[in-house]
Amino acid sequence: MNKSQKSQRHFSQRKLLLALLFTASPFFLGMSPAKVGNRYMIKITDQEFRDRQADIRKQGLDYAGVDLKNHFVYLLSRDADLVPLALHAQPVQQIFSSDRPDAKYKTSDQVATKLLGYAASFPDLAAVLPIGKSLEGRDIFALKITGKVQTPNSRPAILFNGMHHAREVMSTEVPLDIADYLLTNYGKDASVTHWVDSTQIYIIPMLNVDGNHLVWTSDSMWRKNARDGVGVDINRNYPFAWNTCNGSSSNRNADDYRGPSPASEPETNALMNFVTQIHPVFDISFHSFGELVIYPYGCGSHTEPGTIVEPIGRAMADLITADDGRSKYTAGIAPDLLYSVDGDDNDWMYHEQHVIAYTIEVNAGSQGFQPKYDRWRDSTVKRVRPAWQYLLNKMSSTLITGTSHASSIRIAEVNGRYSEDIKVNEDGTFHAVVNPGSYELSGPGRHAKIVTVVKTPVHVDL
Ligand SMILES: [Zn+2]
Repeated sequence: MNKSQKSQRHFSQRKLLLALLFTASPFFLGMSPAKVGNRYMIKITDQEFRDRQADIRKQGLDYAGVDLKNHFVYLLSRDADLVPLALHAQPVQQIFSSDRPDAKYKTSDQVATKLLGYAASFPDLAAVLPIGKSLEGRDIFALKITGKVQTPNSRPAILFNGMHHAREVMSTEVPLDIADYLLTNYGKDASVTHWVDSTQIYIIPMLNVDGNHLVWTSDSMWRKNARDGVGVDINRNYPFAWNTCNGSSSNRNADDYRGPSPASEPETNALMNFVTQIHPVFDISFHSFGELVIYPYGCGSHTEPGTIVEPIGRAMADLITADDGRSKYTAGIAPDLLYSVDGDDNDWMYHEQHVIAYTIEVNAGSQGFQPKYDRWRDSTVKRVRPAWQYLLNKMSSTLITGTSHASSIRIAEVNGRYSEDIKVNEDGTFHAVVNPGSYELSGPGRHAKIVTVVKTPVHVDL
């Protein structure tokens, strides 16, 4: 940023502050056509957000993130927004279209180079898999990490993905750290060696490669993909419960525009096809910001209390130290935490693919989407480590693993409410993490079997 930009920013921030003081609360905000331009980040109380959510959505204001501990919701507005919404807003910062993220965050090319570098440095442990192409033809890559990676195996799979939303640059750093941590500690740390040798770990650091390009070249606050210059929010585009509970927008200019039809976007399809192939037991989708662990369902209230997804989500939230260095992350379903979400990846994975799926929103509102790299990158990725490591440990403890000729099998808790249909992989194996207890396994044309799971994996041939 040069000197005149700096003074312009200073002036504009003062102007915004004055505008807020003199129009006073209520602050008048409204909708303008989506365009690349300057934006204001403002915050309102979470109560006002809940009360006025319909108006806020109607006006096309962009939800940015939440600070549940201090009861604020952050919103982004375009600079020309001036119609009566009468929000009691506080200014946070003005963001110029010329602003760029801290240059130490990654471009899609830098991510690809890093993944290829891992595969070259650790040829027995890591392989790069192209999982599809973006709308503009960029490659989307996954890194596969497992012992003797070149030899097929039937170990249970886990998926970590980042950057559905382009401006959430820290959401790529966490998956990259997972890869780095596992590869550099293999053979030195007994837990890491065990995880890598007993599971298949898949890491997609950057799904929205086109959106990321826009963040670096035209708008640091770009969230969606690159569809037709307006973009689709690929995390509102998954086909399960698409457009069913006011959890996305039909307005093409809105930042949570769901797209013209379910799974219309190539990036959405790339992830869906990949999940369908690898049948992961767990997924974490990394986003920012809000210091949250969110579990299904974002739309509707299908999650039964006591099922596996909820206690594991709560345990992970308790394991992540917040940016204040003291408190922990908050766990819950999206409708309870703040608002409903439809068409997101977690609901689709959980409902359609039987993946135990989470969204983790890293960083607090005070750090926002693009925290200073040197100040926040390392502390953020380190604080998230206990959460993903908790899932890897679960895969070596309360796991039911086995073989079957059926295409899916049912696992039902004996004298309990948990019941889940698990897909059988193409090689005839299946894997499911459960709570400790006794379970009946059944499948079409198979004799049911009962197993008891305590704290080590149980193998069943059905
Ligand atoms: Zn996000």
